[in-house]
Amino acid sequence: MSCLVLFRKRYKDSLKRTLSACDIDVQGWSDLATDRSAWRCIIQEATTKFEEERITAANNKRLRRDNPTQTSTPHPCRHCSRICRARIGLISHERACRQRHGQPP
Ligand SMILES: [Zn+2]
Repeated sequence: MSCLVLFRKRYKDSLKRTLSACDIDVQGWSDLATDRSAWRCIIQEATTKFEEERITAANNKRLRRDNPTQTSTPHPCRHCSRICRARIGLISHERACRQRHGQPP
């Protein structure tokens, strides 16, 4: 008999995950929330910081995606020294390049 335990996410689980993502103390958040004006300031600062970090991470990810030569090693052709971005492209190019130069495949 297998022991399969399914956890159903509750509202408070989602709330704790969001608070953790915003660097707010998960254990004492209810005490902090009793002072409403201070709580609003904490939430405002935390969400602003979280949003800035999210945007920075998204921009960095976009830069890596748009400029793949920085992250991946180039693959030069052995016959004509052309640089291919991906290994599969290099294999395809070398096959055509060998035929172009009269070498057997
Ligand atoms: Zn080539």
